[in-house]
Amino acid sequence: MAKEGILLVLSGPSGAGKGTICQELLRTYPGLHYSISATTRKARVGEEHGVNYWFVSHDEFQNMIQEDELLEWAEVYGNFYGTPCHQVKKLLNDGKDVVLEIDAQGATQIKKKFPQGVFVYIAPPSLDELANRIHKRGTDSLDVIKNRLSCANNELSYVHNYNYVVVNDKVQAATNKVAAIITAEKCQVIRN
Ligand code: 5GP
Repeated sequence: MAKEGILLVLSGPSGAGKGTICQELLRTYPGLHYSISATTRKARVGEEHGVNYWFVSHDEFQNMIQEDELLEWAEVYGNFYGTPCHQVKKLLNDGKDVVLEIDAQGATQIKKKFPQGVFVYIAPPSLDELANRIHKRGTDSLDVIKNRLSCANNELSYVHNYNYVVVNDKVQAATNKVAAIITAEKCQVIRN
């Protein structure tokens, strides 16, 4: 039987750069698979169904919950997000490594089901820098930006749930750190 793959969970406040780090990891770390989440959020310009997210209606999302198709789910900034279980379980069973980019509520649920997962918290260098980045990104309205910043403090209070904290000063350096974490985890004699 193949050794189970690593389940990497990346979280951090909106604007900390976890999405960018995740994309960079997927580009450079061999054999890492991205779990595509389902969401009721509307697609942003440039986002594609089945690539960035599975964009679903509220009814479809409720149905996924009822049919037990989600490993975890949460309401984040007024929209629902969840991790479809089928693909993640199959990849892990086949010995493949999987990354979930999810919020802290979701990570808490995953930790109960997969305590052997590797939980990495991506932190911004400071809250000021976080505000700068969200403004610069320019993909969200002012109301959405305000809401995301007010949630950032709450998100930061979950840090203790994670195995590692990586401060994202520079994307490449932070990505290298996360890659080193996965490599170290894979080299462990016994993973618990
Ligand atoms: P965004 O709308 O910017 O793509 O994502 C908003 C937040 O939802 C981010 O913190 C992101 O990590 C989180 N998120 C994305 N997918 C999931 C998911 O499947 N489950 C949970 N719990 N959070 C998610």
